[in-house]
Amino acid sequence: MKSLQDPALMKTQSYINGCWHSSSEHVAVSNPSDGHVIARVDNAGADEAVLAIVSAKAALPSWSAKSANERGALLLAWFDLIIAHQDDLALLLTLEQGKPLKEAKGEIAYGASFLQWFSEEGKRVYGDTIPAPSHDKRLVVIKQPVGVVASITPWNFPNAMIARKAAAALASGCTFVVRPAIETPLSALAMAELADRAGIPAGVFNVVIGDDAPGIGRVLTEHPDVAKFTFTGSTAVGKILLTQCASTVKKVSMELGGNAPFIVFDDADIDAAVQGAIASKFRNAGQTCVCSNRFLIQQGVAQQFTDKFVAAVAALKSGDGVADDVELGPLISANAVTNVDRLVQDSLAQGASLLLGGERNNDSNFYPATVLNNVTNEMPIAANEIFGPVAPIIEFETEAQAIALANDTEYGLAAYFYSRDIGRVWRVGEALEFGMVGINEGSISNAAAPFGGMKQSGNGREGSKYGLDDYLEIKYLCMGGLGD
Ligand code: ADP
Repeated sequence: MKSLQDPALMKTQSYINGCWHSSSEHVAVSNPSDGHVIARVDNAGADEAVLAIVSAKAALPSWSAKSANERGALLLAWFDLIIAHQDDLALLLTLEQGKPLKEAKGEIAYGASFLQWFSEEGKRVYGDTIPAPSHDKRLVVIKQPVGVVASITPWNFPNAMIARKAAAALASGCTFVVRPAIETPLSALAMAELADRAGIPAGVFNVVIGDDAPGIGRVLTEHPDVAKFTFTGSTAVGKILLTQCASTVKKVSMELGGNAPFIVFDDADIDAAVQGAIASKFRNAGQTCVCSNRFLIQQGVAQQFTDKFVAAVAALKSGDGVADDVELGPLISANAVTNVDRLVQDSLAQGASLLLGGERNNDSNFYPATVLNNVTNEMPIAANEIFGPVAPIIEFETEAQAIALANDTEYGLAAYFYSRDIGRVWRVGEALEFGMVGINEGSISNAAAPFGGMKQSGNGREGSKYGLDDYLEIKYLCMGGLGD
């Protein structure tokens, strides 16, 4: 069994105002690979959420008064520590979440890259001067931090979903409270330990660990001292939280569910498409909001693509994430397995054909890599976010049909397509109603690019120069009385 080089990174208590908070109640954190309990964390609740908000509010004046350079230097120190402890952080992540160690290392580097990016980008919060409509006035726009930011994050990227939000919030001069998913608290707490070591002042970054998601969620969405709320998770929960935020008219950003089409046109490079399909479908065992959810393949290349794709999927090695060369870990829980299996069985009952996998092992959280064809866009597997290692194939004839099928969903997060025709690339790129489009590319997210969705996939953008806007207020100063 692999162990941590720095055992002090294994923290089990909420981190509030620079201190670790004990509680008389505990929650077990288990490894989804084998159900083994890896830690017991202290269970905080609504009271601790209030305390974290009060601490973040108290820390706000001095944090927002720092120069962008000073904040940037602290973010960079945090980045350096995360990279220095990448192996330990990845191991903790794999133990609590299940993804292969190689992917976990990638997630740590990806999350840290947002700290690095925003340590610089925070220096570029420019304002504006606007030509005035009369001689005696001058019009100026400045940008200021919104204030205390509260957030709720999911278990599928226990490090990066926090880093992506906290980096932009802290760089903007905001202070931050996060309630991570109870399945994966250890990655969040290890980040807090490193924030502490980096010298991020008490109260600027707070982590509240608790299993009462609705109770803590109410505080974070309704407390009057929270200026902005940011969420990553399902559309269903996002709608509840949005409604709660309405009571105090908070600024919100929502990264919600997706239903990504992956389109392969007749003129595509089929080998590249297969490679992109594997990357976009099976990362994190299919448990990401940007995972390909529907494979739309043009008739002329359907057989060729399907044969090559099934062979590549069959070669994926499944197992415990810490074992060598594993490419496919377990799903997060038995419930997750049940949901994925139900979608597969319903599709088969409605006429889909099974090309690979599809057989559940009742005793574990593992679900086999599965490929279905003869799927239609109306089947539940195409209409819902699968969140598992299942690839449904739908055939189409024309470009117009592909665009209509792709857009026929309430979601609008990521889409992918493969074509080598420059005219088609522009037409389809512009016609897809999705916030992010991978063109001849299955892996699209990085700190320099805006991550976010349209339609019911949410609002706001994370990463890139646009990512600061969600944490800044625009203030207009009108100076009058300047003479005739
Ligand atoms: P997922 O399918 O990724 O678990 P969820 O939307 O269910 O997506 O969960 C995302 C995050 O939201 C998790 O941290 C979860 O604990 C939290 N959550 C779920 N329901 C609520 C709720 N009613 N109020 C606040 N947080 C919630």
